[in-house]
Amino acid sequence: MVIDLDRFRAINETLGHQGGDLVLIAVARRLQRACRTSDSVSRFGGDEFVMVVEDVDTVDNVRRVAQRVLDAMTTPIVIEGSELYLTVSVGVAINGYGATVDPKLAHELMRDADTAMYVAKAAGRNTTAVFEPQMRDRVALRLALSAALRQAVTHHELRLVYQPVFDCRDGRVVGAEALVRWQHPERGLVGPADFLDAAERSGLIVDIGGWVLAEACRQAAEWEHLCDDDFRVHVNLSARQLGDPGAVAQVRHALERHGTSPGRLRLDITEAALLDDPEGAARACEELVALGVGIAVDDFGTGHSALTTLQRFPVTALKIDRYFVARAPSDPRTARLVRGVVALAEALGLECVAEGVETKEQRRIVRDFGCDSYQGFLRARPGPAAYVTTLLEDSRRVSPPTLVIVRDAADS
Ligand code: C2E
Ligand code: MG
Repeated sequence: MVIDLDRFRAINETLGHQGGDLVLIAVARRLQRACRTSDSVSRFGGDEFVMVVEDVDTVDNVRRVAQRVLDAMTTPIVIEGSELYLTVSVGVAINGYGATVDPKLAHELMRDADTAMYVAKAAGRNTTAVFEPQMRDRVALRLALSAALRQAVTHHELRLVYQPVFDCRDGRVVGAEALVRWQHPERGLVGPADFLDAAERSGLIVDIGGWVLAEACRQAAEWEHLCDDDFRVHVNLSARQLGDPGAVAQVRHALERHGTSPGRLRLDITEAALLDDPEGAARACEELVALGVGIAVDDFGTGHSALTTLQRFPVTALKIDRYFVARAPSDPRTARLVRGVVALAEALGLECVAEGVETKEQRRIVRDFGCDSYQGFLRARPGPAAYVTTLLEDSRRVSPPTLVIVRDAADS
């Protein structure tokens, strides 16, 4: 079993290397306690440990041992008076039950366990994965993707699509959310689900996010003469981006470069991203708000401490996660929850956006509850900027309403 500490780098950065060493010692002790005396635990380097478990007869028993390793981490480690909650990702490779390891093949077993560990990390950390041969391809693909992603910005392979946001009452287009896509030279158009995770982990998200911000601000400036005062361009910001020391400067730079008014920009940040490092995030948000930029809590309701988020951060808007919107028509409890969230937003003077509206019934519900705006496949999927331009042009053509006096022949 290859056992890797999750987010150890952050611990090292906050506690310093001496603190980090103490954490490693504490983890080693816990791992020793989690296995039998006939097994062995060693530190392999950095924050990686290896456990050799002998004489297990079924894969279920192997999983049980791996689960014991995860369980060993559930109580916090206390270092210098502060409690640290640690998790590990465990990769397992099995050398056939009861068979002795051929020393010549030991390194292959290690490599397979390592591959499984990467799969466990990718599955969201704090979990275990048992090696299967097809994992090799997946990991190889991921590594190749990371390498190619490094060049995506410089090779101009990134694109933005925009999903329009509509006013619930009059149906006007009142915003657009910028969503990144990667025009991969061989794989074609790749969606964010397939590369953002790798970008986050490698830190490349900071470069990618910088490009997204600049491009969205350029586009917002282009729409300036077409849109109403309440039109906003939404840009997603991940935890890693928000935590980057240059985050605020990056936003300011993108706005200045294209002369975009800060009020046009709305940064969509998930609750999870805000709570990753609440103090740092609060500081960054205060500075962003001081610039004149608005902040929307993205996927509202899916985090664990919605109210803390609202109390701690200077937010401008809530985006109700599509999970709730989807269930509202069939589940009265969810519907009441959505109504409560809209009321909460109203009480706090926040705008409220419903995400993922796919049916007229869902739209009717969020509109009746008093939600301000919505986005979703019902009216528009994410698409080229030109589509939003057309919507903006069309809404100008019909408004301001021109009064046409039609003479009825009977009048004269
Ligand atoms: P998100 O911020 O929640 O964005 C909305 C996602 O929901 C988009 O997926 C959009 O296509 C999808 N969606 C919109 N309306 C509907 C609907 O009616 N039904 C359903 N089923 N889905 C709908 P997409 O473009 O694949 O983006 C996924 C996530 O990737 C985004 O979730 C956001 O968290 C992240 N992301 C996208 N672009 C960026 C970016 O430039 N920077 C960062 N940091 N994250 C991004
Ligand atoms: Mg979003």
